[in-house]
Amino acid sequence: MAYIRIEAEVIGNIVIGSTPIIANHIESADSISGSMLRGALAGIWSPDDAGNEDFLSFFCRDDIRFRGLFPIPSGTDGTDFLTNSHFPFQMPLSAFGCKYDAGMGRGGHGFIDGALNSLAAGMTCPHCHAPLKQCRDTSYYYMLSGKPKPITTKKEIYIYHGTERSTKRAKNAALYSYTSVRNGERFLGWLTGTQERIDCFWKRLRESARVSMKNDSEIEANLRIGRAKKRRGYLRCTMKKIAPDADREETLHPLFSREANPKLRSDNRLIIMLQTPAIVYDRLFRPLTTLRPDDFFSESKLKDKVTEVNGRTFSATTVIDGWSGVHKLPRVPEIAVAAGSTFVFTLNTAAVDHEGEALEELKKIQADGIGERKNEGYGQILINPPFHRGEGKWLP
Ligand SMILES: [Zn+2]
Repeated sequence: MAYIRIEAEVIGNIVIGSTPIIANHIESADSISGSMLRGALAGIWSPDDAGNEDFLSFFCRDDIRFRGLFPIPSGTDGTDFLTNSHFPFQMPLSAFGCKYDAGMGRGGHGFIDGALNSLAAGMTCPHCHAPLKQCRDTSYYYMLSGKPKPITTKKEIYIYHGTERSTKRAKNAALYSYTSVRNGERFLGWLTGTQERIDCFWKRLRESARVSMKNDSEIEANLRIGRAKKRRGYLRCTMKKIAPDADREETLHPLFSREANPKLRSDNRLIIMLQTPAIVYDRLFRPLTTLRPDDFFSESKLKDKVTEVNGRTFSATTVIDGWSGVHKLPRVPEIAVAAGSTFVFTLNTAAVDHEGEALEELKKIQADGIGERKNEGYGQILINPPFHRGEGKWLP
């Protein structure tokens, strides 16, 4: 499997629409879905090639996977993030912290991982005895010196208040607010596919008049993303084609890099976390609102060797909306299991020939993901991500 790595920086500001507009406030998302990335890249394609065989293969079939763009720290922390090949992990829904100050990564009252240790009913913060709440202040984290450090996306709030010139009164429906991702914020993401498809994608991308060659191996393009694309900012993207080389960490597929590579735990627990929302249907085409071992392992050698741990499921649902730029119409909303949902299973390793085999199976599942619309980045999973490699004690 080969991939194209995308580093992006916000120029101006962008509003990443993800939630339906509620009342008159629009909240920008922290990340750019694969679906949006796909649309933006299709938008810079040479008009001559739009709709031809290669175009359909890249954008409409599962030959290229648009995995989305995830936030990374801004400024020098961001440069450090990139040079050290860190991975932007989704914050798991199993993380609970002090209601007043979990302060993850900056010495607050602390937090606990419910996936590793059942949370006692009525458990409170050991420092101030306040109740616990889910750590949802930030959506992403990365590992710094063995500890999760939240990635904060800097946003600005805008208020628009339109008035009628003649009367100086508020226009009808002309008072609203929105948050937007600030100038200079950065993102990191990937497109994956077979070497042949990635090579072909790269060749066609270079032919587009809307990109420029930064040097022999890097392409620069400005992508319009989010709501009100023409009025606001854009994403300046640097794309680089990477040929994986097992000996060089920085060229490994991001999902197999040092941090994100699945690892087995000594207690045989499998903690599976959704990096992006998963759209999964049952046999009657009803959308699932939570996931069980079969939803991950039904086609794997590990089928029947994985069992659920009761009371250790931390899942939520979300609705995926979208806009079709081609049809100028909203896409059909779909119910999905939300990003960050965390599932705890037990792997019966005695039933597996050897641990290496189990690990290979887990890598396969992590690389492929689950559910529908995987080419649009949905259903990406991480198995035993570093957040859950501790012992489940209250931290720090
Ligand atoms: Zn506290």
